[in-house]
Amino acid sequence: MPGKKTEESAVAPHPAWRDRLRYFSEHQDQMVDTVRELAEIESPSDNKAAVDRIAVFLASRFEALGGCTQLHRSKDFGDSLQIDFPGPTPAESRHRKPILLLGHYDTVYPLGTLAAMPCKIENGRLHGPGVLDMKSGIALMLHAIEALQAWHGGLPRPVTVFLVSDEEVGSYSSRKITESLAKASAGVLVLEPAAGLRGAVKTARKGVGEYMLRVRGVAAHAGLDPGKGHSAILELARQIAVIAKLNNLRQGLSVNTGVIAGGTRTNVVAAEASADIDVRIQRAKQASGIDRKLRSLKPFDQHCKIEITGCINRLPMERTAGVAALYKKARGIASQIGWSLDEAAVGGGSDGNFTAGMGIPTLDGMGGVGEGAHAVHEFIVISELPRRALLLAGMIESV
Ligand SMILES: [Zn+2]
Repeated sequence: MPGKKTEESAVAPHPAWRDRLRYFSEHQDQMVDTVRELAEIESPSDNKAAVDRIAVFLASRFEALGGCTQLHRSKDFGDSLQIDFPGPTPAESRHRKPILLLGHYDTVYPLGTLAAMPCKIENGRLHGPGVLDMKSGIALMLHAIEALQAWHGGLPRPVTVFLVSDEEVGSYSSRKITESLAKASAGVLVLEPAAGLRGAVKTARKGVGEYMLRVRGVAAHAGLDPGKGHSAILELARQIAVIAKLNNLRQGLSVNTGVIAGGTRTNVVAAEASADIDVRIQRAKQASGIDRKLRSLKPFDQHCKIEITGCINRLPMERTAGVAALYKKARGIASQIGWSLDEAAVGGGSDGNFTAGMGIPTLDGMGGVGEGAHAVHEFIVISELPRRALLLAGMIESV
């Protein structure tokens, strides 16, 4: 091939990697079946019974592979599922840190979505709610572990899988567990979807904050006493204009007022109004500044009261040396089968932000390849599954 050789392509491909790719290609249909099976168990974050159902189902799948499962009960959200696999020997299990495979089984789709958005295969793509984000990621974990066991007669090192129930709604019930498992691990692989159809892994993610601005004004009859009211809606509108000015896209800071509500009837000066605000930051050090600015908003109309609640929930996943080293390892594995694996920085947050924020080497976007996460056209590219599984298996072995 023309052009300059990269560091990895200088390494002669090892024939064993080709055999491994063949193994996964032969298991491609089974992988598709697994993704489909998982997508057909609907699991919206806000429906505890539904999320608990998929947790129990997955516990049995991982137990069948010899994993030791533990449900972390939650009262307000679904239960999260931890699975521990021992290393090849008791000494190895004691002394070698596990690698943590991180994912979530909750989705953004309400129960009944399958009726309008059924799982179907078309043009080499599997469509369905949550197939990309991130039930294919969970399927990859199952099949990579199964393959490693077939190749080595057991796992070559201890592995911990943690699947959370509430990632799509902020991971409030699972965050502490994620962080403590990450702390005990050699590294974290997040099986969230890859970035774009080229399947890049994610080495940086923005931090995410959610805020709510509530305005209380003074109600009045719009016809009889128009001058007596102090409109919460007008005050909110003025605040929204101020908030929009906080955007600094060049520095990777964005603020979006995504939802507004307020008022009761056209003939009433509104007593209440509110706005939900999404904040994204590129660097951890931007968190306190934007937080302070939002908290110091002052009412234009002295008769209106404003109150802001919320916080930066996920700090950015920054491309630290540990993250870069994992990416380099992944790139080296991919090059064994002639695959040039890209990296990407993305605006969305994941639980990988928590683990990377603690300084634990984290590589995200290790999951399925497709488009349309959270949207009606969500799909994965079926032919990408084998090499994604190969990459995951290789990373489990070598990190
Ligand atoms: Zn996700």
